[in-house]
Amino acid sequence: MIINADLHIHGRYSMATSKNMSPVTMAPQAKLKGLDLVATGDALHQKWLNIIEETTEETSDGIFSLKDGTIPEGSEDVPETLDDTDLCKFILTTEVEDIKRVHHVIIFPSLESVHALRSKLNGNMDADGRPKIRMKGDEIMDAAHEEGCIIGPSHAFTPWTSIYKEYDSVYDCYGRKPDFLELGLSADTDMADRIEELQDITFLTNSDAHSPWPHRLGREFNEMELKEFTFNGVKDSILNGNIHSNYGFDPRLGKYHKTACSKCYRKYEISEAIKLNWRCPCGGKIKKGVDYRIYELSKWDEPHHPPERPPYIHILPLAEIISSTYCKGVTTVFVQKIWKELVYKFGNEINVLIQTPLEEIEAVDPKLSKVIKAFRTNTLHIESGGGGKYGEIMFEQDTLDSYF
Ligand SMILES: [Zn+2]
Ligand SMILES: [Zn+2]
Repeated sequence: MIINADLHIHGRYSMATSKNMSPVTMAPQAKLKGLDLVATGDALHQKWLNIIEETTEETSDGIFSLKDGTIPEGSEDVPETLDDTDLCKFILTTEVEDIKRVHHVIIFPSLESVHALRSKLNGNMDADGRPKIRMKGDEIMDAAHEEGCIIGPSHAFTPWTSIYKEYDSVYDCYGRKPDFLELGLSADTDMADRIEELQDITFLTNSDAHSPWPHRLGREFNEMELKEFTFNGVKDSILNGNIHSNYGFDPRLGKYHKTACSKCYRKYEISEAIKLNWRCPCGGKIKKGVDYRIYELSKWDEPHHPPERPPYIHILPLAEIISSTYCKGVTTVFVQKIWKELVYKFGNEINVLIQTPLEEIEAVDPKLSKVIKAFRTNTLHIESGGGGKYGEIMFEQDTLDSYF
């Protein structure tokens, strides 16, 4: 069985997370995105766990489905064509911050293991959806493994809270190989496979979404082969490298791709940043870009993909393609109208982005079909992100003219 899974999101009790975040909104939205499985996120947080337990039920080992009748009748965000029984399912996950401010993703086999880990980890589990744990990475890994969980670093190369901002090797953090490594939005497989120690580690591509809408949820995901649709199926697929493809951003679109100021977002060459002692004249801190961090860690100038490494397929949220196509000033309502028209017609967003024949998209929206073509042929212009600001799709006027 092949599924699309997004294994890292946050619930509504995490900082800066949409109050709309709930299994009831996520299950249909994730399905419209093209996902079969989505993380619950924040499972260690008692209030969020209550919501999960109230709205979902375990339908196979470690896999949860929305309870019948949970979605209000006539909900505007759910098309009539979407079958209740075929909504996206959930797996219990959390992200934690360790004592060194390094983030880790943990995936749980059961509710029991969530409760057991809650009592083992040292920290206030209910202060934030992503708890701060007063333990080191290896101690958290030990506790997680004792409860049958799998664990690996989140957004491994970012400058504030990742494993590689703190250590030069994942082994310095865990003392052994992590179960997986999450690439984060600012890196892809071509970049990470320049680092020798990652050759035998499975890469995950997850959204880290803070809102249930499809420009966030599933903006990165994993196409995985499962022997069975259970926690063990997911675990085996990750540990044995049965990921078919990683889907994710062009890393230039990530928030931390280039070295830049975290306040005014001005980009810097490394030599310049060092000369300024990582302080921007505006008063902000200059943060090292993921591209440069990977260069520092790399053994090779070019990617050395191990034979089992799956392809990495670049995707973009369709809503962003729509708003870029219709340029500045378009309203969210307008973007949503077109998004719904396409997604409801062609089944889900991934289809529209990757599979639906261009002629069929053209029949609905000729302007957009040209931009989707440019996206599929990898000829969109991208202005890199950095310092906490996402990269942007850019249309020069003449490029735009050549599209239309
Ligand atoms: Zn994080
Ligand atoms: Zn600045």
